[in-house]
Amino acid sequence: MQLSRFPRQRFAHLPTPLERLDRLTRLLDGPTIWIKRDDCTGLGLGGNKTRKLEYLMADAIARGADTVLTVGAIQSNHARQTAAAAARLGLACHLVLESRIDHADEAYMRSGNILLDRMFGARLHDFPAGTDMAQAMQQVADEVTARGGRPYLIPGGGSNPVGALGYVNFALELLAQATERGVVFDHLIHATGSSGTQAGIVVGLEGLRAAIPVLGITVRRTRESQEEQVMALAEATADFVGVRGAVPRRAVVANSDYVGAGYGVPTPGMLAAVKLLAREESILLDPVYSGKAMDGLIDLVRRGVFTRGQNILFVHTGGQAALFAYQPALDRAINE
Ligand SMILES: *Cc1c(COP(=O)(O)O)cnc(C)c1O
Repeated sequence: MQLSRFPRQRFAHLPTPLERLDRLTRLLDGPTIWIKRDDCTGLGLGGNKTRKLEYLMADAIARGADTVLTVGAIQSNHARQTAAAAARLGLACHLVLESRIDHADEAYMRSGNILLDRMFGARLHDFPAGTDMAQAMQQVADEVTARGGRPYLIPGGGSNPVGALGYVNFALELLAQATERGVVFDHLIHATGSSGTQAGIVVGLEGLRAAIPVLGITVRRTRESQEEQVMALAEATADFVGVRGAVPRRAVVANSDYVGAGYGVPTPGMLAAVKLLAREESILLDPVYSGKAMDGLIDLVRRGVFTRGQNILFVHTGGQAALFAYQPALDRAINE
């Protein structure tokens, strides 16, 4: 597993900080809680997609592309980071966006990530909920080709083996930091969506036999379907980096208890977690991913799943730009 074999563009601020959350730890009166600040990857407000994009953009350039395309929800953090990376590298960017939320208000449709997409100069293409997004992206790519462009298609969330390399590398970075700090992690927990983050982390940690169990808190799918998707990508990624078979099925674990009514729909637990982390730690979580994952972490501590004496690592995957898109819901939570 030599990641230096793969082309990479450098624009992330790495390594991201590893911090102990003392006030949250004291408040919950359980395990010691740590946070890995992948919200601080630097590019255009940062987030977890930036690590993936270092490899995806390098692949695009190696293949001679002059235009990148990707898909996502209106408030996709991945779309925003792709637009930022494209601007940085002088590539054109087309974002194929799905209106996944039906009660969308002005803030959701105009502020947050979508405002930044336009700031970075990306071209936006809107499609209704339920559209076959891969097909819609292909259609836009065909139009780019017809006009003489050379498109490179990035799947939703940047989740394929090339993108997942960013999180294989995260595992190496994390273990180096843990060694440096002399901390043994008992569990790692983070929000899982399109699966590249969890797949990459699991390949890295299992490839190195780090013995750190990983728990993905889902934001959309059921536990079963999420685990299936992560496992498939982990296998493909392990093959790709040359550690075929490194990931046993039992290393892929998800929990879908904190999704609520659906993708991007606020839950009371998410709102409480976002408010708590802001007030106790000055950490800004996001409403769609890290807020729900932190709700899960807090609940699992309260239920005694994670206990005193353990070191639990929360990976902050970013997404704060979406806070502004959820202004009405957050306003209500702040006033409670
Ligand atoms: C995309 C995203 C995730 C999920 O990562 P995947 O690799 O898609 O599973 C988690 N948190 C935030 C803030 C994201 O934008």
